[in-house]
Amino acid sequence: MMESRPRIGVYICHCGTNIAATVDVEQVREFAQRLPGVVIARNYTYMCSEPGQSLIKQDCQELELKRVVVASCSPRMHEPTFRKAAHEGGVNPYRVEMANIREQCSWVHKDRVEATQKAKALIASAVAKATWLEPLEDRQVGVTAGAVIIGGGVAGLAAALDVADAGFPAYIVEQSDHLGGRVADLNRTFPELEPVSAWLPSVIERVQAHPNITVYLNAHVEEVEGFVGNFKVQVAGCKMQDATSLPLASCVLQVGAIIVATGYNVFDPQRKPEFGYGRYPQVMTTLEMEKRLAEGDLTINGKVPKDIAFIKCVGSRDVQLGNPYCSRVCCMVSAKQARLLREQLPDSRVTVFYIDVRTFGKRGEEFYDEARQSGVLYRRGNVSEVYRRGERVVLRVEDTFLAKTLEHEADLVVLAVGMESRSDAQDIAALLKLPRSADGFFLEAHPKLRPVDTAMDGVFLAGCCQGPKDIPDTIAQAKAAASSALIPLIRGTVPVESATAIVDSELCSGCGLCVDVCPFGAPALDPLWGVSVVNAVLCKGCGTCAAVCPSKAMRLQHFTPEQILAQVDALVW
Ligand code: SF4
Ligand code: SF4
Ligand code: SF4
Repeated sequence: MMESRPRIGVYICHCGTNIAATVDVEQVREFAQRLPGVVIARNYTYMCSEPGQSLIKQDCQELELKRVVVASCSPRMHEPTFRKAAHEGGVNPYRVEMANIREQCSWVHKDRVEATQKAKALIASAVAKATWLEPLEDRQVGVTAGAVIIGGGVAGLAAALDVADAGFPAYIVEQSDHLGGRVADLNRTFPELEPVSAWLPSVIERVQAHPNITVYLNAHVEEVEGFVGNFKVQVAGCKMQDATSLPLASCVLQVGAIIVATGYNVFDPQRKPEFGYGRYPQVMTTLEMEKRLAEGDLTINGKVPKDIAFIKCVGSRDVQLGNPYCSRVCCMVSAKQARLLREQLPDSRVTVFYIDVRTFGKRGEEFYDEARQSGVLYRRGNVSEVYRRGERVVLRVEDTFLAKTLEHEADLVVLAVGMESRSDAQDIAALLKLPRSADGFFLEAHPKLRPVDTAMDGVFLAGCCQGPKDIPDTIAQAKAAASSALIPLIRGTVPVESATAIVDSELCSGCGLCVDVCPFGAPALDPLWGVSVVNAVLCKGCGTCAAVCPSKAMRLQHFTPEQILAQVDALVW
């Protein structure tokens, strides 16, 4: 309900010159000052700074404001900042409205007059909505201590150790019969050339011996119910790593957070039949070469190869295959293996065919230089085909420097295969309601601000399930995911959305449409009364139910019809 004296304060941010260079902020302030219900309108260089926030707090107290409108950047950036400032000034934080005059105005328009006009419209609209804003209460729910980590590769191990070391139960659910994931199949890591056997077994031993960690091998997650702080994860094949424990068909783990560390698939080079993989024994993948290097068996057809060629970007940066991205590790893997081959077969000629060399990361460029100094030849060229000639194979290459096609004979060809999202990624996505990006990997909530969070509160991403990465980046991300998962576990409570949907049971016909459309399973029909009831803890305030309700019984708090219509009216003034 609208109060007779809305007492609104409007704060227009310059964002340095981000806004002020395109929008005439003083003209906008004069306009805002005249809007109905506005008591004070100010502009300031950086509203989110400490002095900017103090200005809001002080006005709330001294001018007895009831509502605050901040015209600045996207609410995704600073809505919590300004809600907190208003709250400290005595204004209900849900009576703060933001007008996005940066991303939706100054950053996308050049004309100062038109941008100023649009900023005024956006502010008028925000003020109109603010007039109707109702106070809401912040809500908290308790958290079950513990986390499930889906995947027992290096990401899962690192995340589980951090959760467990912080004193919370960590449950690793691993599909295969061993821990260590794909790294367990590697020989040496770049750029140190350290054997994997020098560090991975000790990490696995630490996990297995940790009193707070339970490992389920040959197991998979069957069902996930609940919400941040209170998940119920049903695991099939609940046989613990300890051989003495009895196998169980399935078990339910109750946890406060879930870390997804399901890894990736290796690109299958048979999808590039022109390279002859599977047809010619002389063609192998970098993973197969890794095994050969570990075993010290480098012969091909019983002979030591003299000419070895690497083909990079196999299955990566390939739009036709639907993999336009770089797999981020193949350049370094090729440099590593080429270098080790030069060491072990000093009489051999090793040539790496590349589109670009992307040896980024710590000591990457130096490592690439060292590979070349060791005699590895780098040749820029697209390999279009590999075919057999006697006991050898021939690469048809378009040299992109010389702009001519050439033939390169080799005894052995190594395909630097890239990473793809897992073939079962869709199943995990459906279980956890996780969005995926166009390349099939799980999508983080925000690439910069929330890189390990997902759209589902309490579910975090670690390692290559989110996108290709090398081992250090995988472990860094896993530790970040563990830290984020630990926040609710340590606090013991989590805030939940306050702007939830509510049902007017007098108007509800019990049609069940809201139950069908809610992506979070929040509404359900009351079996006794036959009307919809929303579980406020599950509701994310997306508004889908309110949009479809034919009886106008479902209402989304903070986005009521009165508020939205007032906004629209103000926009078309
Ligand atoms: Fe920039 Fe937003 Fe801060 Fe203003 S509130 S200075 S628009 S980041
Ligand atoms: Fe479900 Fe969204 Fe409606 Fe909440 S607002 S009940 S999350 S559809
Ligand atoms: Fe009731 Fe509306 Fe849900 Fe139908 S869509 S059950 S009328 S709240």
